[in-house]
Amino acid sequence: MNSIIETSLFFVDVILPIPLRQAFTYAINKDEAAYLKRGMRVSVPFGKSKIYTALVDRVHQQIPDSYEPKEIDQILDEAPLVTAKQWNHWEWMASYYLCTFGEVIRAALPSAFLLESETIIHLSASFDATSIDALPITDEGFLVLEALQHQSSLHINDVRSILDRKRVLSVLQELLQQGYIEVKETLYDAYTPKQKRYIRMASAYASEEKLRALLDSLSRAPKQRSVIMTLFTLRTADKNVGSVQLQKKSNASAAILRTLIDKGVLEEYFLKHDRVSYDGDDPGHLKQLSPAQEQAYSEIVQSFEQKPICLLHGVTSSGKTEIYVKLIEEVLKTGKQVLYMLPEIALTTQLIGRLQAYFGSKVAVYHSKYSVNERVEVWKHVLENSKKAQVVIGARSSLFLPFSSLGLILVDEEHEPSFKQYNPAPRYHGRDAAMLLAHIHGANTLLGSATPSLESFYNAQQEKYGLVSLTERYGKILLPEMELVDLQDAYRKKKMTGHFSERLLVAMRETLAAGDQIILFQNRRGYSPVVSCTTCGTSPQCPNCDVSLTYHQHKNQLRCHYCGYHIAMLHSCMACGMETLDTKGFGTEQIETELQTLFPKHRVARMDQDTTRGKNAYRKLIDQLEEGEIDILVGTQMVAKGLDFRNVRLVGVMQADNLLNFPDFRAHERSFQLLLQVAGRAGRTQKRGKVLIQTYNPHHQILQQVTVNDYQGMYSEETEERYQYKYPPFFRTVKITVKARNFVTMQQAGHWLAQALSLQLKEHVLGPEQPPVGRIRNEYLTCLLIKIPKQQSLPKTKAFILQVYRRFSALKEFSSVKVVIDVDPA
Ligand code: ADP
Ligand code: ZN
Repeated sequence: MNSIIETSLFFVDVILPIPLRQAFTYAINKDEAAYLKRGMRVSVPFGKSKIYTALVDRVHQQIPDSYEPKEIDQILDEAPLVTAKQWNHWEWMASYYLCTFGEVIRAALPSAFLLESETIIHLSASFDATSIDALPITDEGFLVLEALQHQSSLHINDVRSILDRKRVLSVLQELLQQGYIEVKETLYDAYTPKQKRYIRMASAYASEEKLRALLDSLSRAPKQRSVIMTLFTLRTADKNVGSVQLQKKSNASAAILRTLIDKGVLEEYFLKHDRVSYDGDDPGHLKQLSPAQEQAYSEIVQSFEQKPICLLHGVTSSGKTEIYVKLIEEVLKTGKQVLYMLPEIALTTQLIGRLQAYFGSKVAVYHSKYSVNERVEVWKHVLENSKKAQVVIGARSSLFLPFSSLGLILVDEEHEPSFKQYNPAPRYHGRDAAMLLAHIHGANTLLGSATPSLESFYNAQQEKYGLVSLTERYGKILLPEMELVDLQDAYRKKKMTGHFSERLLVAMRETLAAGDQIILFQNRRGYSPVVSCTTCGTSPQCPNCDVSLTYHQHKNQLRCHYCGYHIAMLHSCMACGMETLDTKGFGTEQIETELQTLFPKHRVARMDQDTTRGKNAYRKLIDQLEEGEIDILVGTQMVAKGLDFRNVRLVGVMQADNLLNFPDFRAHERSFQLLLQVAGRAGRTQKRGKVLIQTYNPHHQILQQVTVNDYQGMYSEETEERYQYKYPPFFRTVKITVKARNFVTMQQAGHWLAQALSLQLKEHVLGPEQPPVGRIRNEYLTCLLIKIPKQQSLPKTKAFILQVYRRFSALKEFSSVKVVIDVDPA
């Protein structure tokens, strides 16, 4: 190479959204070098024929010595799509969670930003083909749209041949931006605000005279009359009256209501509605905080003057959300952005309307289940710090957004295990990553929970975080009355009907008679998880995984909950051939069936993974419960989430024992949290709620603590145990899972890693040990657990783990082995 060319050469290091650890270098010209900045996207050729979208890391002039760099394909952005603050946060994430920067990018950017040769595009649903000639697009854009009218979808490589050129991503980018095309993705749930039906008097009857005349004319239609009278008692001031409420209070059928509407006496109208009733308050005005809330609010504000992180420990229904709202309002006044994180989309939908009522269009929602276009839009609003995204509500992935100046991050239900991402990498914890993000922005973080995680409470005790407690429910409503029901005793005295104790049945009948609702919680789905032969003891097993199959009565199938394998229910035992298959244990489906026999006149519904699979199934169940269309809801964990239902008076826990006996060091903490969360669904209004917990171990410490809401007691005992057994919060943990199709290879790999890691980490490496389910989807698994004492350097330990992992990956004999590294496993 001659030296003149050499000095004029420019290069760019880019990061590809793939799990490879190194950055890749491409050649660029001088103009491009002056133009490109960190955080912009370029498309680059990779391998033989692939095209990827990559992020620019840095521009430089050092010629790579080991290979000759290719040229970039093209530049895709005019300004960085990723900000410097995001870049810092993502670098932290990759290094803390021991994954690659590329993996973080893949998780962080909506897929529409990461077009690659494998991407499939199609016309967007709203695209109007009739106006195609009038669209303000380039000829090439036109060609693509035209092709998509003939073929429902195209590969990016197809587009290359249609346009007869290699560089096509910018053309597609343009079409995406204008919303003409979409990137094909796995199923997502688009958020549609819920509409609720309300009833009012038609304006023709506004005057008292007209009204009196009307009532007189209805003297022989007492039911219609009663509807109108009821409407008047309900419609005080400017309060809206829901159709269901009206029907219930006046004891009228839907048909009567319909008649009055058809006659023009009543009018129906629809309002976008959130899932929480406002009890008549005008949207737009903040609620008056109660003295207890006011106190908590000012303590939080004071705490933020000392420390950037504060834990709000407030019992269920204490009105934490209203406190958040006030905090948000204050932050918005300063022109800063707010991120409000929730563990799950389910809770997000309940909150959206509530926040929109206060902050209007300033509220944006971000969730990985939203459509690509919606996500891209929110991304842009946040990047531009536009008015439309001052408050972002979202699940954990919302912390990847390009915030410019965050003032506050709220992490609600901070104890929820679903804040932790398990697959794919980065295996990050939403709460912990949020605190780091806040730190980068110099923002405050408020963690909120009725049952804080041991980690957070410990940090508060250590005075790393501020701590504010709110011990009374809003409106001084009493916490539900809790009672343990001894199952052993009930069985002995023959006071059981199916899985229901007499105590529970009596309480259920009372509740139903009063017109109130019931939630029943059972920690298992399916009909009766384990089927076994009473002759030989064999249980039908999944051929791909080491688990017993679960019986699903509804479909009369045996199913595997790990891989989805299923067969028709067997008549006879596969091992001995006898027709003596019996069902042990019980799940939500069986309870549902029993309920239908026990309460044939009442409406029973089930909420678990099987019944909420469809697009809107979950929301529909919640709506039905709110609208009083369900009397008894039976469900798994899902019913425990922080949902706010008005008329649930009784909560029954069918069997607490399988929670407590779960083989995990967090089992007790989790049981406590879950049981109190479920209990918190009962009696959120004036009538006091009741919670009945059926158990074989009524003297179990955790259950005792649950009944008196003794968080402190649970905390002291559990931390003592954690200390003794070297678990968080005293030790940090890293879990390594080794997977291989070959059993022996898996074992050898596990031992190799254990040995290599022990060289430095000594006795703090546990395993390899087979997990309870030792084979999933035909891969054998083994696990190592590394414990890291507080005084040991975390970065150094992680660097060492990575070094061992790299050596391992280079070994030919283990090339078929997969290794999953999970930092702070949940
Ligand atoms: P938490 O999140 O602590 O479980 P919520 O914030 O959901 O509790 O509040 C419980 C209920 O009390 C909600 O229906 C809410 O609207 C109501 N509420 C809370 N604070 C107030 C207030 N200051 N004024 C009126 N209603 C309130
Ligand atoms: Zn399976």
